[in-house]
Amino acid sequence: MTKINITDMLTSYNKKNLTICTVCSHSSLQIFNGARKEGFKTLGISVGEKKKYYDAFPLGRPDEFFIVDNYKDILKCTDELREKNVIVIPHGSFVEYLGADRFLTLDLPTFGNRDVLKWESDRFMERIWLEGAGLTMPQEIKKPEDIDRPVIVKYYGAKGGKGFFIAKTYDEFKKRIQKDKKYVIQEFVMGTRYYLHYFYSPIQNNAYKLSKGSLQLISMDRRDETTIDEVQRLGSIAELEELGIHPTFVVTGNIPIVMRESLLPKVFEMGAAVIEKSINLFNGIIGSFCLETVVTEDLEFKVFEISARIVAGTNPYIAGSPYSELIQPNLSTGRRIAQEIKYANKKNMLNKILT
Ligand code: ATP
Repeated sequence: MTKINITDMLTSYNKKNLTICTVCSHSSLQIFNGARKEGFKTLGISVGEKKKYYDAFPLGRPDEFFIVDNYKDILKCTDELREKNVIVIPHGSFVEYLGADRFLTLDLPTFGNRDVLKWESDRFMERIWLEGAGLTMPQEIKKPEDIDRPVIVKYYGAKGGKGFFIAKTYDEFKKRIQKDKKYVIQEFVMGTRYYLHYFYSPIQNNAYKLSKGSLQLISMDRRDETTIDEVQRLGSIAELEELGIHPTFVVTGNIPIVMRESLLPKVFEMGAAVIEKSINLFNGIIGSFCLETVVTEDLEFKVFEISARIVAGTNPYIAGSPYSELIQPNLSTGRRIAQEIKYANKKNMLNKILT
């Protein structure tokens, strides 16, 4: 999809009546709440049936539900959705369950640069981007035979850590690998995890300045991952592995966190470098993104992944974070997205932030 299509599409839109739209899951309560705070109408695509729990959250509930039988059916309803002047806000579940290929063909104005998908969803391309930006990533072990330290084996695609496993030797690797899936092997980095939530505006210059536009740090979190984060309640990992019980990395929630202030300059340097490199590689990332990092005991960041859209780790901060409070009270990532759309609409620059 090219920007020309989007520009064409937007000419038929009633710009006074834009509707913020996303799929009801992941971070949608926050997205709808943020849009509502900025005065937008909201529409929630609900797969299967209207989600009952939304009734319990009137300020996070969309103004209107749009029910589809399955994710694929969204593609068939785009004419109808365009008549409602929708702007789609992608999130992790939306992209993963619709499928990246289908998401690229979604015939609706979408917040962010969709070209980022091919750089982000392929772990090889992701490494070219992040290392090209000067970031340090965990070392990759090319051949399983070369495993000489604790490693984490990851399958492709954002699965919320599902199926990942730790191996300390080639033998352990062989016992647990699912050969039919694409995987990478990374050194297991020892340290503390920080998931950094940035917002990049290519059209506003009121934050950390870049060659074009500016960067904000909205919040950060740590994921709560089962069973790795609680496994020690039952015994050491080594003891449990002897019994055939292996730790897993399935995300079950997110924990608010702040980091020592002396690390913040590096946080901004990394975010800025990732954006500048993305401008070279694919015309630039837009809006919210997250760097997933481990800080080592030498206070060095190792970045193991980027998510190029709103992440669920921003959900603890619907009413603002310790960082966003220093930008504007009550500023969530969902609200910041709505603000960007509002600003771009006012300045007639929607085609600079939608693809
Ligand atoms: P998502 O796309 O939802 O972010 P994913 O399924 O692609 O997740 P990762 O985020 O790469 O998976 O990794 C899942 C978890 O595994 C991380 O949250 C972290 O706890 C752990 N992890 C990943 N890479 C490393 C590493 N190199 N060293 C130590 N822990 C790691």
